[in-house]
Amino acid sequence: MNIGIVGLGLIGGSLALDFKAQGHQVFGVSRREDTCRQAIARGVVADASSHMNLMAAAEVVFICTPIAAIVPTVTQLIPHLAPTAVVTDVGSVKAPIVQSVSQLWANFVGGHPMSGTAEQGLAAAQPNLFVGNPYVLTPTTSTPDTAIQLVEALVRSLKSQIFFCRPEDHDRAVAWISHLPVMVSASLISACLSESDQTVLELAQSLASSGFRDSSRVGGGNPELGVMMAQHNRSAVLQSLQAYRHCLDHLISAIEQENWQALTTQFQQTQQARPKFVQ
Ligand code: NAP
Repeated sequence: MNIGIVGLGLIGGSLALDFKAQGHQVFGVSRREDTCRQAIARGVVADASSHMNLMAAAEVVFICTPIAAIVPTVTQLIPHLAPTAVVTDVGSVKAPIVQSVSQLWANFVGGHPMSGTAEQGLAAAQPNLFVGNPYVLTPTTSTPDTAIQLVEALVRSLKSQIFFCRPEDHDRAVAWISHLPVMVSASLISACLSESDQTVLELAQSLASSGFRDSSRVGGGNPELGVMMAQHNRSAVLQSLQAYRHCLDHLISAIEQENWQALTTQFQQTQQARPKFVQ
């Protein structure tokens, strides 16, 4: 199959490596000429260019640019596409993208591979990045079955676990388990920095160990990603943050009132619930 990848970064490059290894003809378009040269030199793609006309022969195109660039990228791509070509994207937020792109190109299936590393760019691309991890597809009632089947088969070939859901449900679910944790973890670091006694702050920094490492990890990552989540999934992020604030208020009032029973009950409930999210 002729597969096009637009945006040869971590996700686009990793998809290209896996599809090429399966024997597909993989062509890449990226913004910078240097990225295209490196993609060819590293054998990530059969050919690469900064011009969309390389996508003319593609049967399916994966849009792997940053979220804000996905809709403009599809707009640039459309004049070069074969009428039967299927387009899919990998953006971490789905509802606004699916709504806009479906109106531009009917043969579109929204997607989100829930795999990644802390690194970015083509240099970070790696084979088998998607093995065993969730890959969410968000077709709508008007998405053609043929397009869904084609994207599903390719995602299955990556050995990902496929989940189908509505774009809005995807965005609400990732707000809880991906976007809220970033906001909470960043707030944890900010709260610690509010310690006004420099001696205590430095002592805390010296004593911080595995518990703090785990709970601060996602809040200490790439700032652009946190802003992207808030901007593009604004209403679901706000809803989850308000629920979180409500939980904090409960916690504060239980401690103020020395209501240790309420606190015990809450910690028992969260201890039981955690394995339903992660093993
Ligand atoms: P990335 O490593 O930065 O790759 C994106 C690539 O797109 C860049 O290498 C860049 O190529 C190109 N690009 C950047 N800005 C562009 C623009 N304005 N117009 C056109 N092309 C542009 O990012 P990524 O982590 O692969 O993320 C790509 C997409 O995957 C995003 O939509 C993100 O939401 C989604 N995603 C990411 C992860 C993750 O953990 N990273 C997980 C799941 C989904 P050049 O080098 O040519 O400039």
